[in-house]
Amino acid sequence: MAQKIFPPADINLAYVLTEILNHAPTWQEGLSKALIPMRDHFVFDNVAVYLISEQTMDATIAFARASGRGRNSEADAFWGLSIVEPVISRREVILINEVAPLETDRLRQPIKLGVPLIYKQKVLGALIFIRFGTPPYLPDQVEFATAFADFLSIKIQATLLEEENAQLQSSLEMVRAQEDFISMLSHEVRTPLGFIKGYSSTLLREDVQWDDATRLEFLKIIDKETDNLQSFLNNLIESARLQLGRISLKIDNHDLREFLNETETLMKNRYPNVNINFASELEDDVAAFDRTKIPQVLENLITNAVKYAPGSPINILSTLKNGVLKFEVKDAGPGIPEKYQEKIFDRFFRVPTNKPSQHGSGLGLYICKQIINAHQGKILLQSSAGEGTTFIITLPAHDEALEQKFGLLT
Ligand code: ADP
Repeated sequence: MAQKIFPPADINLAYVLTEILNHAPTWQEGLSKALIPMRDHFVFDNVAVYLISEQTMDATIAFARASGRGRNSEADAFWGLSIVEPVISRREVILINEVAPLETDRLRQPIKLGVPLIYKQKVLGALIFIRFGTPPYLPDQVEFATAFADFLSIKIQATLLEEENAQLQSSLEMVRAQEDFISMLSHEVRTPLGFIKGYSSTLLREDVQWDDATRLEFLKIIDKETDNLQSFLNNLIESARLQLGRISLKIDNHDLREFLNETETLMKNRYPNVNINFASELEDDVAAFDRTKIPQVLENLITNAVKYAPGSPINILSTLKNGVLKFEVKDAGPGIPEKYQEKIFDRFFRVPTNKPSQHGSGLGLYICKQIINAHQGKILLQSSAGEGTTFIITLPAHDEALEQKFGLLT
């Protein structure tokens, strides 16, 4: 049989391969794509990349592709492991071209070509090509594989640097988040404590006589700040529990009109100077939900609207249609810029603001979302900067699985 002569790799192919590697997001994707045009000029059955792990300093497999004759067969066994170690330790190309003359099974005649992957004197690993059976690799093909390994090393190093960079970024973000958390925590605890301490010390002064009205005013401030502190700590504990996946609902059938009237009265009493409007379109009076948790969600959304959309009317529309209970809480405030919307339900997330008076912990919407998720519902928002914000909640009015798990049918 005439020996097949492979054409030397031409300059166009080299150009195509570097372009592919350059544009691929990672070296693995680049190599995967590059193998396709490469196979037309440089025949191999299997290809593998071994990289030296920074932790163990061992070469471990980082990429493997079987095609041609090795596919779905004994490929794994042949994947060049035997030459990885010498290629790396000697920093040399190793070519095992000999084929046993009497061997008829091509899978037992692997030709192996191992090329070190080196970037700026540092050995990153090895690139291994395997071909089952003749013809052997010729010198210009070995040269081609070596040149390709150089390009691949640059791409591997770039990918490793990007991964390292991403890791650094995420550690940095974590440190920043921790710092933000500590400053939020100290602010949310220190502020009310400062008021409580300040006003109680003032009241306790023996050298001053306070009239009843002033004393009452100071006591009201102490009372309000104690409530703030308590509600912050409750939210913190609740959100920590939710993060551990601990939520226990009490699902029961409730009269929706009664529940909405109660919430309306409560909110109007709490915010007498805010224009709060409740409207509803209910095809049925009854729905099953947790009677403390759902009001908690609505109260939170209304309180946020009061806080972040000062002066705006707040419209709450409740509908029950086709078995879906829906609440919309709409304000005409400054809105939430689109770039922050994705994170708005994250624990501790707050939109950066230059209004220090709007203090908060970034826990409220996180808690709302967990409660709605636990009800098998959804909460989302429609907002854009300057256009107000609408939070939309949809819940199954009756969910058998939920009722079985948390109430009603048990
Ligand atoms: P907190 O109010 O304690 O900061 P939340 O989780 O309730 O925490 O809200 C997260 C962030 O979402 C708030 O800090 C605020 O920036 C933004 N936000 C919430 N509701 C509104 C709203 N109705 N209008 C504008 N921004 C809002």
